Amino acid sequence: MSPEESSAAKPRRNFVVAIDGPAGAGKSTIARHLARHYGLLNLETGAMYRAFALKALRVEVPLDDPNALQQLAAETDIQLESGENENRVLLDGEDVTGQIRNQTVTDAASRVSIFPAVRASMVKRQQEMATRGGVVMEGRDIGTVVFPDAEVKIFLDAAPEVRGMRRYDQIGQKGQSSPPPEEVIRDLRARDERDRNRVDSPLKPAADAFLLDSTNLTLDEALKAAESAVDAFLARSSQPIPSQTA
Ligand code: C5P
Repeated sequence: MSPEESSAAKPRRNFVVAIDGPAGAGKSTIARHLARHYGLLNLETGAMYRAFALKALRVEVPLDDPNALQQLAAETDIQLESGENENRVLLDGEDVTGQIRNQTVTDAASRVSIFPAVRASMVKRQQEMATRGGVVMEGRDIGTVVFPDAEVKIFLDAAPEVRGMRRYDQIGQKGQSSPPPEEVIRDLRARDERDRNRVDSPLKPAADAFLLDSTNLTLDEALKAAESAVDAFLARSSQPIPSQTA
């Protein structure tokens, strides 16, 4: 979908901070921090693609069949609720939050998200979510397609090896068993490749995005840099953030 098409269908919305970037760049951590700091809803769009992929796996729709996936998207209800630590994801009313982070669903989400009909249905829901309140929304196409006129756009990146090691450490900290680091890095690269090279809404920085490369930054430095992007907008517009949740 082109930005023009998506903005034509866009309902009235509140303040938006768009955070895009490849897997493992730290988007969720930064989005959560900004949402708390500025009193905004935190919405992780990747969780929607994951929930849809879970449904495709469950009903055994082939992950490479665009027509069957389009039909499935039309029959599927996905709701995303902003939470303190993570988003709650409802798939046809069922809470699937705990079932969408495994490797099978991760891989399936990356595959189904290349299809325009799947993306169009997710984008429409995402645009509607910003009518509920101000949001920090993270994904791959938020600043380019979902909200091309977002007030603040941040494109977060880091070297693949650094992202892979961070992801590996995160899995370990949760007490889960992880594949070896080389495999985690290989998987991130494969997903990036698919996201960057797809025809519809490829992963790329919006022309007016603030580019934040966290390869050599501590977490605290990255959080401060992200805050300064929002503060710079607020200083320019000299207005409070509209529709805060707190
Ligand atoms: O961000 P997360 O890793 O949870 O996203 C899962 C998958 O969903 C990604 O690998 C990506 O292919 C897809 N995605 C997308 N557009 C978004 C968010 C996620 O294509 N806005």
